[in-house]
Amino acid sequence: MRILERLEQLAAIGDRIGYSPEEDAAHEFAAGWFREAGLEVEVDAVGNLVGRIPGGDREVWTGSHLDTVPGAGRFDGTLGVVAGLEAVEMLGLPGLGVVVFRDEERGCAGSRGCSSLPDAYVELHIEQGPTLLAADAPLGVVTAIVGYVRGRRTFSGTAGHAGTTPMEVREDALVQASEFVLHARDAAREIEGAVATVGQVTVEPGGTNVIPGRVVLSVDARAPDVERLDRLAAALQIEEPVRTEPSPMAEEIRAALRAEVETLGVPVVELPSGAGHDAGILATAGVPSGMLFVRSLNGGISHNPDELSSPEDIALAVDALTGALRRLVT
Ligand SMILES: [Zn+2]
Repeated sequence: MRILERLEQLAAIGDRIGYSPEEDAAHEFAAGWFREAGLEVEVDAVGNLVGRIPGGDREVWTGSHLDTVPGAGRFDGTLGVVAGLEAVEMLGLPGLGVVVFRDEERGCAGSRGCSSLPDAYVELHIEQGPTLLAADAPLGVVTAIVGYVRGRRTFSGTAGHAGTTPMEVREDALVQASEFVLHARDAAREIEGAVATVGQVTVEPGGTNVIPGRVVLSVDARAPDVERLDRLAAALQIEEPVRTEPSPMAEEIRAALRAEVETLGVPVVELPSGAGHDAGILATAGVPSGMLFVRSLNGGISHNPDELSSPEDIALAVDALTGALRRLVT
């Protein structure tokens, strides 16, 4: 399978942090494949690579990114580029294009800086989670890319001697913070599709024999739509919140993907994406966008060398993407 050979070639480069010589090398591979496929190749001002079939009334792009996190797997981003090229090459229809966005993993610099946007965008991506595996479904149609609120919570108590301060008079900031961690878990569990994570804890003064006087927690809260994100944010009262709104995927593209998945005779599963993607950036910029997820094996692990999708699932995904692109461009 040519897709697997190309994924292998990209993996052989190793980690490819955005704008590193390694990411450049991956873009050179892709540019070569695009030219071999007869596409018109362009690089824009921020380094995004686009291979187009000129003409047509509507510009419809597929694609993804070739940069990685450190210690990445071989499917995140790469699959959308390599499989997207297969679909575009197979169709050969004017208006179609494959894009490789720069530097996705550190905050989507490429898609944020992309100056000439298409009329529609469909991104194929490994799920990076266990939902499709649990549903026994090879493919998933993304409903929305979740929004998030990030910030911190601070708890103040009174630092004191761990041996001489009786339990009844203590004001232990870490005990208060611990109650918040459990509250955050419960608040997210009560809202369907929401998640909340405390990933960092700073305890002051931080002595083994000192009652904690001040604790700062990091909070990362996510939900698939504005109403649910509002509810979660209200429950968590995050200090100095940084908020990114959820990006709903376009109904036209969801419908095209659902129809193609159904044609393949596999279950039609719709799910939100808990991770950010270039498709979310394009959707926010006003481009009708959609995503097709391919089942993650190995428990759904991602950003890890054990990240895996099967050749059978990838073949189904290429078929569904091809059909959807045909519907959208004509
Ligand atoms: Zn990705």
